[in-house]
Amino acid sequence: MKKILIIEDEKNISSFVKMELEFEGYSTVVEEDGKDGLNTALKENFDLILLDLMLPTLNGLEICRRLKKEKDTPIIMLSARDSVMDKVTGLQVGADDYIAKPFAIEELLARIQVVFRRDKNNSSQNLKFKDLTIDSDSYVVKKDGQDLSLTNKEYELLLYLVQHKDKVVSRNTLLENVWGYDYEPETNIVDVYIRYLRNKLNSEDKEKYIQTVRYVGYVMRT
Ligand code: CA
Repeated sequence: MKKILIIEDEKNISSFVKMELEFEGYSTVVEEDGKDGLNTALKENFDLILLDLMLPTLNGLEICRRLKKEKDTPIIMLSARDSVMDKVTGLQVGADDYIAKPFAIEELLARIQVVFRRDKNNSSQNLKFKDLTIDSDSYVVKKDGQDLSLTNKEYELLLYLVQHKDKVVSRNTLLENVWGYDYEPETNIVDVYIRYLRNKLNSEDKEKYIQTVRYVGYVMRT
């Protein structure tokens, strides 16, 4: 049974989400305080964390940032704020997805399924690209034998590009397939993550692995 941690200080939301998730067959733990939530997330293993942004004692962004240093538990941020800026900030600190309150429970369940489906879809074969090896069982990417520590989203972006190597992939295609749903078209999240990836791939020639195709998107050419 998949175990989900809900860190949310609004009792009416947490109890509703808890009830719905349990009805869907997930087991849940609820924390209402930021620090308590972080401690529980560090101490126990969860398959997913639903994380509110505004929380007492420690806010959601800070929890996400600290947690992602220790663990790769997928995180979906919940927030009443709905600007692109907040989404980008949430994703920059390592959240896997972002949902604005108020949300329909069906939407939340769909996002959760996207996160869980990724595990299943990944084949167990190692993929290679130049001196990179991607082990889709363990989510480990090695460059020349050395582990690169990628966040979930960076990993999935790289995986998608390698799986479609030698094809130019548009930003929208990446948004749909890596982020799992439509962002506003003006969102620059793909470019932000490409930049992170290039930094982590750490090559003198920044286009060595991922090439920019002007006005279109990106390609990894063999
Ligand atoms: Ca709150």
